[in-house]
Amino acid sequence: MAKAPEEEHPVKAFGWAARDASGVLSPFKFSRRVTKDEDVSFKILYCGICHSDLHVVKNDFGNSTYPLLPGHEIVGVVTEVGSKVQKYKVGDRVGMTGIFGACHTCESCENNLENYCPKMIQTYNDVDHDGTKTYGGYSDHMVANERYIVRIPDNLPLDAAAPLLCAGTTTYSPLRYFGLDKPGTKVGVVGLGGLGHVAVKFAKAFGAIVTVISTSPSKKQDAIEELGADSFLVSGNQDEMQAAMGTLDGIIDTVSAVHALVPLLFLLKSHGKIIMVGAPKKPLDLPVFPLIMGRKMVAGSAGSGMKEAQEMIDFAGKHNITPKIEVIPMDYVNTAMERLAKADVKYRFVLDIGNTLKAA
Ligand SMILES: [Zn+2]
Ligand SMILES: [Zn+2]
Repeated sequence: MAKAPEEEHPVKAFGWAARDASGVLSPFKFSRRVTKDEDVSFKILYCGICHSDLHVVKNDFGNSTYPLLPGHEIVGVVTEVGSKVQKYKVGDRVGMTGIFGACHTCESCENNLENYCPKMIQTYNDVDHDGTKTYGGYSDHMVANERYIVRIPDNLPLDAAAPLLCAGTTTYSPLRYFGLDKPGTKVGVVGLGGLGHVAVKFAKAFGAIVTVISTSPSKKQDAIEELGADSFLVSGNQDEMQAAMGTLDGIIDTVSAVHALVPLLFLLKSHGKIIMVGAPKKPLDLPVFPLIMGRKMVAGSAGSGMKEAQEMIDFAGKHNITPKIEVIPMDYVNTAMERLAKADVKYRFVLDIGNTLKAA
């Protein structure tokens, strides 16, 4: 007879979960598995609030199951390791991305692209190999196979490192894969939120010349003075957009609202590419004529595999790249979600789990 999940997962855990598509989070008791041979257990100290958390708690993609405990920008300190764990020991500073597991046999897995494994298990709102639900980082501790753990470089503060685990991989990977990581490359970043501001920092660290494209003129000062962008375009300003036609090698498009692609395609040089990393709920219009005139490309990218996640965060450590964050207590999470929906944050909320999550 199959064991109940509680018997399989005997270690008590607690966090904050949504119970329905209202998305309102409240204290929640659950359990996690014991530390198996290849597992790392860690006490969670901080967890970033990714924009996709907001979508998923409200069932915007139609695949949410409740209770739903979000969070996939997780950092903390190792408390226990299994007997076969090679890379980590108790006390190490570690993090976890949106990937909780994968098949390890498919072509994507063999190429260190667990993020594109057809059987990839997400860190929350998914089902583990053993049939139990996965619960994310808005919680006291995490247990996962060491393959899905990354080491946080010593010089990065843990709170500001947290958003790199999603926003970092999401922007670093396409910049590398699509060749936008060469000095002098002209890179556009559309949207200056959690993803966009990290994209600007990575692109600048690669030596690219960076243009931020935003609907809000109010972000110009931050983009240029604080984040180091080279120029700024207001997408609604026809004169500015016209003057910048045909100037960019590539664009990282972070916007998760429905928006027009054609004005962005006109910003590209021939052979330029737009890489979509935001996830609008509805399809976008893609007229073909502006694509074929100039052999342009619209592509997508989702996170990174684990090998590249470690490479990304090591690069961030080397170049002192940290997201701009607002650290908040656990019981502020619902207010934070409301503010995030209005883009009222510079630029990522990070939950101070270690100091403010009280046992349910
Ligand atoms: Zn995310
Ligand atoms: Zn696989």
